[in-house]
Amino acid sequence: MQKRIAIVGGGIVGATAAYYLSKLPGSEKIKVTLFDDGVGQASKAAAGIISPWLSKRRNQQWYRLAKAGADLYPELIHDAQLGTDVYQQTGTIVTREDEADLETLFALAQDRRKTAATMGDVTTLTAQEVQDQVPLLTAPQPGVLITGGARVDGGALVEGLLASASKRNLKISHERVKLNAQGQVITSLGARQFDRVILAVGAWLKELVAPLGVNADIRPQKGQLIELAVKDYPLQEHMPVVMPEGERDFVPFGHGKLIVGATHENDGKFDISVNPEVTADLLGSAQRLVKSVTADSLTGVRVGTRAYTSDFAPFFGLVPEHEDFLVASGLGSSGLTTGPQIGKFLAGSALYGGTPDWSQYEKPLTTYLASSAE
Ligand SMILES: Cc1cc2nc3c(=O)[nH]c(=O)nc-3n(C[C@H](O)[C@H](O)[C@H](O)COP(=O)(O)OP(=O)(O)OC[C@H]3O[C@@H](n4cnc5c(N)ncnc54)[C@H](O)[C@@H]3O)c2cc1C
Repeated sequence: MQKRIAIVGGGIVGATAAYYLSKLPGSEKIKVTLFDDGVGQASKAAAGIISPWLSKRRNQQWYRLAKAGADLYPELIHDAQLGTDVYQQTGTIVTREDEADLETLFALAQDRRKTAATMGDVTTLTAQEVQDQVPLLTAPQPGVLITGGARVDGGALVEGLLASASKRNLKISHERVKLNAQGQVITSLGARQFDRVILAVGAWLKELVAPLGVNADIRPQKGQLIELAVKDYPLQEHMPVVMPEGERDFVPFGHGKLIVGATHENDGKFDISVNPEVTADLLGSAQRLVKSVTADSLTGVRVGTRAYTSDFAPFFGLVPEHEDFLVASGLGSSGLTTGPQIGKFLAGSALYGGTPDWSQYEKPLTTYLASSAE
C-alpha cells in the first residue's frame, strides 16, 4: 500500500518538501496531500534577498544552514526548470559610509568566501562604482559587491515547486486544518490519518500543535514592504540587490519592478492589514534612494507574518514524543534562504525514516518544543 504523507503549510518549507517528495527515489511509493490556506504567508510577501554571508550573527549553526540554503538554490532552480524571473544571481551590494567599516566588511567577505564558492567574486566598490552598477540610485555610498548574491520571488518559487509536484504525487487542498489529540488531521471532510505529517505552518505552529500537548516557542512578527514601478528601469534589467546602510533594502526585480523594505513589527503579530503610515515611511526610504520615485510609483504593499523563536534561530526535525510528525518553524527574517534546505531535509526524513543528525545546523528540538504538561 502507498504511504500517505500530509504537509500542513504551503510556504517555502512546505512547497520545497512537497517538491522533493515528488522527486526523490522512492517517491512513486507515496501519496502527498498539502493543506494550506495561504493567509499571511511570509514566503509570498518576502523581499527575496539570498545573501547570508555578511551577516554579523554569531550563531554558527544558523550560518551553516543559511550557507547550505544559498548553495542549494542554483541546483533547485535548475532541477525545477524555473527561470530568471523566479531566481537570479544578480549580485548583492552592502554599503557602508565609514571607510573603516567598509574595510571590516570586506575582510569578513574575503574570509567567508574561502568556504563559500556560491558567493562568487567579492570586491569593494567606490560610490561611483556602486552608481555604475545600479544607475537608479541617487547618491549611493561605497560598498562590497558579492556577485553570487541573489534575489528570489518567493511567491513564484512556491507556485513553481507546487505545480511541478502536482504533476506527480501531490494533491493540494486550500483549507485551514487542525490536529486532534490522536494525531489526526481535521479537514473539512473530517479527521484523516496519515503515516507521516510535516508541519510547515511558520508563525502558526503554536496553535496547531497545542492539541498534541506540545508547547512551541514561536511568536509572530508582522513585515511590510512596498512594490514600485520605476520609470526608465526596464532599460536596466538585472541590477544587483542593494542593502544600504541606514535605509531599507532595495531589490530590483526586472521589468521595472522594484521592492523596498521590509519592516519588523513585533506589535503587529498576526495583523495583515496595510498600515498607511508604514507605507509612507517605506516610500520615504525609496525616495531617498531613488529621486525619481513618487507616490504614483507605488503599485502595491505586501504584508506577511514571520515566525521567531526566543533565540531567533530556526528549528526543524522530528517532534519529540510524536515521531510521526516532522516540523519546521522559526525561520525569521532569513527563511527564504534557509527554507529550501530545511524542506529538502524534511522530505528525505519523511520518505526514508530514521533519525538524522542535524546538530551542525540547530540546537536540540526540546529547546523549542516542550510538553505542555511540564
Ligand atoms: C516582509 C518580509 C520580507 C522578507 N524578506 C526576506 C528576505 O529578503 N530573505 C529571506 O531569506 N527571508 C525573508 N523573509 C523571511 C521569509 O519569508 C520567511 O522566513 C519564510 O518565508 C517562512 O517560510 P515558512 O514556509 O516557514 O512559512 P510561511 O511562508 O509563512 O508559510 C506558512 C503557511 O502555512 C499556512 N498555514 C498556517 N496554519 C495553517 C493551518 N492550520 N492549515 C493550513 N495552512 C496553514 C499559512 O497560511 C502559510 O501559507 C521575509 C519575510 C517577510 C514577512
